[in-house]
Amino acid sequence: MAGRFDLSGKVAIVTGGNGGIGLGMARGLADAGAAIAVVGRNEAKSGAAVADLAGRGVRAIAVTADVSNKDSVAAMVERVASELGRIDILINNAGMSIRKPPDQLELEEWREMIDTNLTSAFLCSKAAYPALKANGGGKIINIGSMLSIFGASFAPAYAASKGGIVQYTRACACAWAPDNIQVNAILPGWIDTDLTRAARKQIDGLHDRVLARTPSGRWGDIDDFAGIATFLSSPASDFVTGTAIPVDGGYSIMA
Ligand code: NDP
Repeated sequence: MAGRFDLSGKVAIVTGGNGGIGLGMARGLADAGAAIAVVGRNEAKSGAAVADLAGRGVRAIAVTADVSNKDSVAAMVERVASELGRIDILINNAGMSIRKPPDQLELEEWREMIDTNLTSAFLCSKAAYPALKANGGGKIINIGSMLSIFGASFAPAYAASKGGIVQYTRACACAWAPDNIQVNAILPGWIDTDLTRAARKQIDGLHDRVLARTPSGRWGDIDDFAGIATFLSSPASDFVTGTAIPVDGGYSIMA
């Protein structure tokens, strides 16, 4: 790919890149020429994702790690730097959801969601920052949600983690702009993935409610994230930092 969107020679880490939205973003970066490290816990899923990405003509490796664990994250970053030679782009995408109202949510469940969805971004960004800085700059993309903006009775910890992601993004954007590191967030609407397939089983009528509430009249597809991830990873976005960009078919602007 030519010009300002070219990622040839760049190395990207995509947490949760072995499926769902993470794989959609990884495909976009691979098509733009970046080598990809897919980070997840499920080795079979990661192996399939690596085959998909390598089929696009780039180097791809799978790194098994728990992004909520500091030592695991440190080992993951070290392995990517030594196997792929550098780190230019970090996408903090790994996430999970437990759907319960605040009065029924257990402390362990709260902690698991905050650790997986928010603390993971802190751990991965802190661990990758020296490598990005050493390259003279880089890109970090954090994945929020519509629940970075809206409330929902079933999502106290999820919403807290995703609201936190936006503020964490802004803090890092301010802190690391002098290092030429741009930090932005993407806020997905309702996207067809394993995560939302589980939600659709739990909640009667969810599928049709999403269709009715989304101006584009459809659920999002993982490949809807290829373009935005490529833009925010590329020199085309060098003056864009601290933003939180909805990719939601208009869901967040519907009255
Ligand atoms: P998926 O369940 O398909 O993907 C989640 C990914 O995160 C998996 O690849 C999983 O890999 C990885 N993951 C989870 N926990 C850990 C962990 N502790 N360590 C390492 N990897 C982990 O869901 P989506 O693609 O839908 O979600 C991706 C992101 O997008 C999440 O942050 C989610 O909150 C967000 N999002 C999704 C929306 C949607 O509609 N789908 C809407 C708004 C936001 P493995 O199984 O190998 O551990």
